[in-house]
Amino acid sequence: MDLVLTGGTVLTMDRHHPRAEAVAVQGGRIAAVGLAAEIANLIGPTTTVVDLAGRALLPGFLDPHHHFSITAFEPVAVDCRTPPHERLSSILAAIAAAARSAPRGQWIRGWGLRTFLLREKRAPTRWELDEVAPHHPVCLLDGSVHACYVNSAALALAGIDRYTPDPPHGQYLRDTRGELTGTLWESAMNAVYTLSLQAYLDRFGDGVADLLAAACRRLLACGITGVGDALVTPEAARLYRLAEAQHKLPLVVHQLFGGRHFFAPPQEVARGDVDTSDVSDRLRGNTMKLFLDPAFPTYALMRPHPCGGVEHYGERYYTQDELDALVLAAHRRGLQVALHCLGNGAVEMALNACERALREHPRAEPRFRIEHFTLATPAQMRRARDLGVIAVVQPPFVYTRGEAYRRTAQEVGGEVRPLAFGSMLAAGLTVAASSDSPCAPVEPLLGLYALVTRRHRDEAAPIAPEEAVGPLEGLRLYTLNAAYALRRDHEVGSLEVGKRADMVVLSHDPTAVDPEFLRDITVEQTYVDGVRVYQR
Ligand SMILES: [Zn+2]
Repeated sequence: MDLVLTGGTVLTMDRHHPRAEAVAVQGGRIAAVGLAAEIANLIGPTTTVVDLAGRALLPGFLDPHHHFSITAFEPVAVDCRTPPHERLSSILAAIAAAARSAPRGQWIRGWGLRTFLLREKRAPTRWELDEVAPHHPVCLLDGSVHACYVNSAALALAGIDRYTPDPPHGQYLRDTRGELTGTLWESAMNAVYTLSLQAYLDRFGDGVADLLAAACRRLLACGITGVGDALVTPEAARLYRLAEAQHKLPLVVHQLFGGRHFFAPPQEVARGDVDTSDVSDRLRGNTMKLFLDPAFPTYALMRPHPCGGVEHYGERYYTQDELDALVLAAHRRGLQVALHCLGNGAVEMALNACERALREHPRAEPRFRIEHFTLATPAQMRRARDLGVIAVVQPPFVYTRGEAYRRTAQEVGGEVRPLAFGSMLAAGLTVAASSDSPCAPVEPLLGLYALVTRRHRDEAAPIAPEEAVGPLEGLRLYTLNAAYALRRDHEVGSLEVGKRADMVVLSHDPTAVDPEFLRDITVEQTYVDGVRVYQR
């Protein structure tokens, strides 16, 4: 054997043999899982033996919905999160500092800005950004990734002025005089987003692969051994191909292909005009992603109307017919379809589209994905189960935004539940967990903490505590079920003989600690294909 890990608790995620004491690895694959005494017989003179010393060994975590082509640039963009920034002036000072050290005309990008966490409860205006960065185009991404805040130079480069009409499914916010404020919602951010990403790619050239490799190492340090980029534009695809050509992807990246711009409909993908196939073992594809509803101004919602029937309200990116056509076209081509749905109205449209696609073109295990699934009824969950839909959810949302989803669920009323992971599992739905980073913290153990405790970062009372999930089930959402969502369950997601030896060593067994301690468990080691790629 090449490698044996022994002397701890092995949580295999294999339903038939959930616990073991040791694992043996040969040629990058799991060769044996069992009792320490059994595996000891496999240790030869060349075997590397890792003493787990009572710690826990699990399959590597997967993050099937993560905006990796955004987070990869975090070290070279301005961190606009709260904390550390409590006030707008603090963010503006950070932009000013970035402008001082950047050559004139170079794009400055920021990320993680959450207006509701700032003392002023508002975004910086373009004029405030002009003042601190008059000679640089600036684009600050909202923490939701559904809005950005830009200055005049960025607007000018994108060819947007006060006479530009709002695009479909987007808004250029304006003041009372009709002047652009610099806040761009949804598809209104398409041009600035693409231009700023192109500029970053041009600026770093081939060196962009090193940025991506460093971003992969940050994931490995969190115990994440595979990631799905939840929206790959042509520029992001270029980034990944560059990194893969230089062999700088130390983990598998799965691309969910969108349209020409971040919020553009993925018509080219549905039609087969762009190559979405697997590039290599490390760079996968064959999934189409589309947004059904916006975050701004509001999700696609539906509620019982007092006069009877159902009232649909909020915004939608597509009519049902448009959506059905896109989903069916991609489904016919053999692509997996991932549908972003925040509101229960979006979930309803997604389920209709999946149902029609299956009726026209039946396929076993279509593995449709509904992303977020934040507001839904038990009836919708059962319908999703019957259609073979996978719910790709974000447990950290409970921790960061749980109160907002709870409030919207109350407004919508009826049977709608917020971030209802427990109900989904009870309905028999396949649930996979992810971070949606940078929209929420990336650490899977923080997500597990939120799944189990339903804790919010600011509130004393847990969010919809009846939706809590046990730690073992929660771990399954981050491993085997996430592998299923990425169509990689045959190769990763559990420690079973023949699977790839993607593994993580944790300081404590998550099923044996006080739930309050879950977020304090540390990732000690990470392995990909049997090779140790991270050591704390
Ligand atoms: Zn997302």
